[in-house]
Amino acid sequence: MTYHHSLPARLPEMIFKISSLKDGGHRFSLSVDAAKFEDAALPPELFPNPVAVEVVLTKAGAEFFATLSFETVAMPECDLCLKPVARKLTGEFRVLFSQDRSITPGRDDSEVRSLGKNATEIDLTEDLRETLLLSVPMKNTCEPPCEALHKKDAMSFEFRPDDVNETLEASKWQEALRNIQNKN
Ligand SMILES: [Zn+2]
Repeated sequence: MTYHHSLPARLPEMIFKISSLKDGGHRFSLSVDAAKFEDAALPPELFPNPVAVEVVLTKAGAEFFATLSFETVAMPECDLCLKPVARKLTGEFRVLFSQDRSITPGRDDSEVRSLGKNATEIDLTEDLRETLLLSVPMKNTCEPPCEALHKKDAMSFEFRPDDVNETLEASKWQEALRNIQNKN
């Protein structure tokens, strides 16, 4: 699934001023409301809780190494019963910004981006958005598993014509249960 935005929202809290930053590490702890991304893939139902974000910006001359990490409790839907399931999500992203054009990418996989000589800020909005998106699990099911309940619901629905009396329904249900047990 891909979502396109002609004008992606910029979150002021994810924009870091670098013009007066001294060499060394700088830690920023903040809370972000995922709804501010105005992204259909990050709806408030999925991210009802604040996203705790920590950014560490390490300046070394013309280079800024950014480490972004987050933690939140998301509420994805159970794949079987569609009930919201609370899931703790975490994620991390690292990127090196450089004002030095001659920089060559590092040997590891960390991303390198060039930064204009006169850049005054680093915008990590998109990086947080993508890190959040990547952290959402593809499969979500209730814990403890709701699969049995799901099967029962499907069967009782099958045996629920209005003209069938309660006793008959119950006996059919018991028969169905026995059939399942015999199969196992
Ligand atoms: Zn479920």
